[in-house]
Parts: sequence; structure tokens; C-alpha cells
Amino acid sequence: VDSTQPSGASTAQSEALFDRARRVTPGGVNSPVRAFRSVGGVPRFMASADGAYLTDADGTRYVDYIGSWGPMILGHNHPAVRDAVVQAAQDGTSFGAPGWREVDLAELVCRVTGAQKVRFVNSGTEATMSALRLARGFTGRKYTLKFRGNYHGHADALLVEAGSGLMTNADQLGTAAPSSAGVPDEYARLTLVSEYNDPQALDALMRERGHEIAAVIFEPVVGNAGVLLPTPDFLSALHRVREHGTLLIADEVMTGFRLSANGATGRLGLTPDLSCWGKIIGGGLPVGAYGGRAEIMDFVSPQGPVYQAGTLSGNPLAMSAGLATLQALQDDPGLYARLDAYTERLAQGLQAAADEAGVTVCINHVGSMLTVFFQAGPVATYTDAARSDTAAFAVWFQGLLRRGVYWAPSQFESIFVSGVHGDTELQATLQAAREAFLEVAA
Ligand code: PLP
Repeated sequence: VDSTQPSGASTAQSEALFDRARRVTPGGVNSPVRAFRSVGGVPRFMASADGAYLTDADGTRYVDYIGSWGPMILGHNHPAVRDAVVQAAQDGTSFGAPGWREVDLAELVCRVTGAQKVRFVNSGTEATMSALRLARGFTGRKYTLKFRGNYHGHADALLVEAGSGLMTNADQLGTAAPSSAGVPDEYARLTLVSEYNDPQALDALMRERGHEIAAVIFEPVVGNAGVLLPTPDFLSALHRVREHGTLLIADEVMTGFRLSANGATGRLGLTPDLSCWGKIIGGGLPVGAYGGRAEIMDFVSPQGPVYQAGTLSGNPLAMSAGLATLQALQDDPGLYARLDAYTERLAQGLQAAADEAGVTVCINHVGSMLTVFFQAGPVATYTDAARSDTAAFAVWFQGLLRRGVYWAPSQFESIFVSGVHGDTELQATLQAAREAFLEVAA
């Protein structure tokens, strides 16, 4: 990293693009967090990406800790992935008929994750939405249970948090309000909500309502409230939901192929009935998937009565990027240990930098996921996370950005380390972080 840039670097091109974008796209972006609303300033419009770096429209280079929000575990523009996509493009971009790449990728996913059957879709949202429909079709039950602060994409039934938390009134145990306009209360009522890392609350809700709950869906390690780690007692309570005939759906869209070859559940020793994947499974192209036990998956059309389809599902370009990525992960068994080691050093360096500056932070990290919460901690639940000082985070974020480090533009997100983040990037990041913490303290 060139320390003379990008402090004072121009943002003229990004500003011009943002102005044009706002005229034709709501908020100027195609996914909300990209707009920098919670941290302020001009969102950087990116022109290219290579290795651990992003380059914006004004030519400023950043050490990237977003990795396209997870997929780029190998780093950007990985030669094997790029070559596979180019080759696939030469063979035709879409067939509307099955092809060999989706068979290869399905076999690879099943081998690595232990799923018996898998269905490809185009996003994480489609994966969770479809898995829930499948769970309802399989069990003949209407309700699902999710955890407060877990994000599973933007399907109606899943855009529900616990506005008022777990209620004490038995009739209303676990009911919560929609977290978006346009989601009718009637839909939200079918999604019950419990607190993550609260085994007693989960047990109580299951005793009361378990017989009508088709599935419990959860992030095995949470990334979407910032990083939250499950406690052993909570994991045991998750296992117990099956005693009620309820399916356990692990949403591994973020953690799958990241926290280990078999995701967070592999790392934690959990065996869900169904799993959902996204991000890494498509190597940077739009892919999602859901899979699990064959007796459940065989309820999916055309084998079974639960309808689910997609014009571009199994798209050869997308499959080729996923295949090349998962293959590269298989071929580099030391990668996960390297990711863990980098992230551990990053966490220690950031903690030391914050201490030096007199800024109180609580750093949660596991594998290559990490969040710096601006508070004393511990942070185990969404409610804990929500106590963070988001104004301090915004100052720190801007300090990093000005110094060429592209961190996630929200307090409540994980960052993602890639296999090509090395010593150079670590030192540059810690130097920028030290200076940015001093700005927070000032
Ligand atoms: N599930 C989890 C755990 C996620 O982190 C996300 C996205 O960040 C989704 C589901 C939704 O995936 P997508 O954005 O591909 O629709």
C-alpha cells in the first residue's frame, strides 16, 4: 500500500457516478449497505479488483476487507476462477437445459458438506426462501422460527426481527413485527422469533409451539449483527428442536466453505437437516443452493410436490466460478489455517491499537470473520451488539477509508479475510487502524 495515497485522493468520479446513479436507482445503489448511509460520505464506485485490492473509479486502491461480502475467499480475479469463467463463456452463457457443470458442482458440494442432494438457485435469499417452503411442505406445518438479528435474505417471511423481543404472554410467545414496509403482519405472524444464544428462551418456545413449527433457521455463526459466536448450551438447544419434529436449517450463506471446508456447522460439529449456501459457492457469480437429506430434498419439484424453479438456475458461467473456487479450496488444505492465523493477528493488532489510543472495543472473531464492536462487550446477542457506539465506528471507518483500507461500512457486519491477505496488507491495515483509533479518541 502506498501510504501517500489515498488521503486527500479525489473522489470526483465516485461522486459523479453516485449523482447519476441516484437519478435512476433508489438511493443510488442496488443493495442498501453500499450507500454508506450509516457511516456517511461518498460510496466509492469500484472499477476493478485484484487479489486483496479494490481500485475505485478515481484510481484509488484499497486493501479490501469486504470480499464482495464473502464470496472472494481466494482473493479477487483468481486466475483459476477467471479462466474457468472465460472458458464457460466460450461454450455459451445459458442453455435453459441441464449441463455438466451443475452436476460436477452438485457432486462436489455433496462430498464436502455431507448433503445427499442439493438444488442450485441464484442467491442466498432464494436458497433460504426455498428451504423454508420445503420444510413446510415436508412437515405439513406453517410456522418457522428465526433468531433476532440473524439475516436470511429478503424474502417476506424472513424479514422479521423481534421489535419487542420475546413476549411473556403465552399466546404471543415469540411473535414479532415485520422489519420492512410491505411485509404484511399476516406473513410476519408465521415467523416466530427468539433471542440468539438464549437456550432457555428457545426451549420454552419449542415446548409451547414446537408442534406447529416446520423449521428453525439460524446462522450457525452470526455475521449479520456483527460476528456473534454460539455458546455450547445454545448449540445443544438447537439440537433439541428435532424432538418436536421440527427441521433444523443452517443458513451457511456466509459461513459455508469459509469457516471450514464444511462451513460453520462442520467447525462446530452440528448436523442440520437442511443447509443453505450462497456467496463462496458461486465464486463471485450469482449462485445460491440448498440441500440436505435426500428424503427431504425429494419433496422438491419435479420429484416432489414443493414447487421451485429458476430460468438461470445452474447457469454455466456461475457454476464454473463456483466449481473453480471450491476446487481451489480443496486443493489448498492449509488455506483455512492461514486465514485463521491472519485474522488472529489482525484481531490482536487491532486490540493493541485501540488500547494504545484509549478506545474501548470488543473484537469478536472466528476463522476469517471479524467485527470490531465499539463497546466494552461481551457481545453475544443482537441486543448486546446494538449497544455499540455507531458514531465512533463511523469515525474509525472513515479514518480507515482515507488511509486505503476498505472496511465494511456498518458496525453490524463482519469483515472477510481472503487467502491473499498477507504481511504487507496486515501491516498497512494496522498502521491505518492505529491512526484511525487516534481520530476516534480525539
Ligand atoms: N443468509 C445469510 C446468512 C446472509 O449473510 C445473506 C446475505 O448476506 C443471505 C442469506 C442472503 O443472500 P443474498 O444476498 O445472496 O440473497
